Amino acid sequence: MKGTGYLDQHERPLGVLRLSLTARCNLCCNYCQPDGREAENLLSQTQQLALITACCRLGCHTLRLTGGEPLLAPGLLPLLRAIQKRSHQQQGPLEPLRDIALTSNGLLLTAQLAQELRQAGLKRLTISLDGTDPDTLASIAGLRGGASAGQILLKKVLNALEAAEAAGFDPKQGQLKLNSVIQRGRNEHQLLPLAALARDKGLELRLIEYMDVGQRNGWRTDEVVPAAEMISRLQQRWPLEPLGRPSSGTASQWRYRDGGGDVGVIASITQPFCGDCNRLRITADGIAYTCLFSEKGTDLRPWLTPQSSAEALARAIAALWTNRQDRSSEERQQGSSLKGPRAEMAYLGG
Ligand code: SAM
Ligand code: SF4
Repeated sequence: MKGTGYLDQHERPLGVLRLSLTARCNLCCNYCQPDGREAENLLSQTQQLALITACCRLGCHTLRLTGGEPLLAPGLLPLLRAIQKRSHQQQGPLEPLRDIALTSNGLLLTAQLAQELRQAGLKRLTISLDGTDPDTLASIAGLRGGASAGQILLKKVLNALEAAEAAGFDPKQGQLKLNSVIQRGRNEHQLLPLAALARDKGLELRLIEYMDVGQRNGWRTDEVVPAAEMISRLQQRWPLEPLGRPSSGTASQWRYRDGGGDVGVIASITQPFCGDCNRLRITADGIAYTCLFSEKGTDLRPWLTPQSSAEALARAIAALWTNRQDRSSEERQQGSSLKGPRAEMAYLGG
């Protein structure tokens, strides 16, 4: 047994809800490529709370808010405040929720917003940045203005990191991290500069293998920089020791031997971690996906009407979870290719 509560077909418990707040973004990263359209029928706050509550009843302890770019969602702060109000109720339905995290590109993160997010109960913040070289950044983020646009992007993200730290997101406690997707021929030369930046700021850098989510990015195997190669390149500059991958975690952790902090690698392609995946994804319009690489989602809106009960919603999600069989990354590694149209990353939320 890998846990208690609701187990899927591979005995994996539900632990994390990744809730997307919007499919829109203010960037167009080449590996993600949002289409700029918002999903129709965005969930209301009442519906979002109903979903979070149902997932908590079924064993969720962590909520990650994502997008698209979640800072574009006007409902973000009100949602956090509503969750905070309910989490304070002893034996209330949200009591199991121990952790609330957000993934953002940081562009809209002002000092004031960082403080408001913190005060509203956000515990962890992950900011994405794929290099320190302005030209490279502009090309990856889909910015037209070349190096000067990349320079502005870099400055905004660095300001966001400062704002987050000033608001109390402490990198030493794992409350502020940096995500970087590394692609062959695009930004692999940014590995060491990104690591140097993260070390300098005391941030954990999470290096993500380029994944075949969705279809718009035209993913090819030869564009993936394997995690082992990323670690080997870092090792040559700063020796590392392995810490392993925490149970149900996405990143294998490493520690700089010189005291320079930690670095994680998310090796979904070369070292899949489907075996203990405990993540349920729900899009901004209420479609649940039990895997990043699912061909099909399940529309939960029939259980989110004013007439439907909390019990019926929890039963629907429990049924979805207990039938879950997904292990797409492991299957890909064993040679079967992903078939059929799949949802895009900016819609799913990562
Ligand atoms: N807009 C926010 C951001 O970029 O942080 C949140 C949403 S984004 C979809 C969440 C994470 O997924 C980001 O760290 C992004 O770099 C990562 N991501 C997007 N597409 C990816 C891909 N094809 N392979 C690997 N990571 C990807
Ligand atoms: Fe936007 Fe994030 Fe996708 Fe980049 S990865 S296009 S920032 S949603």
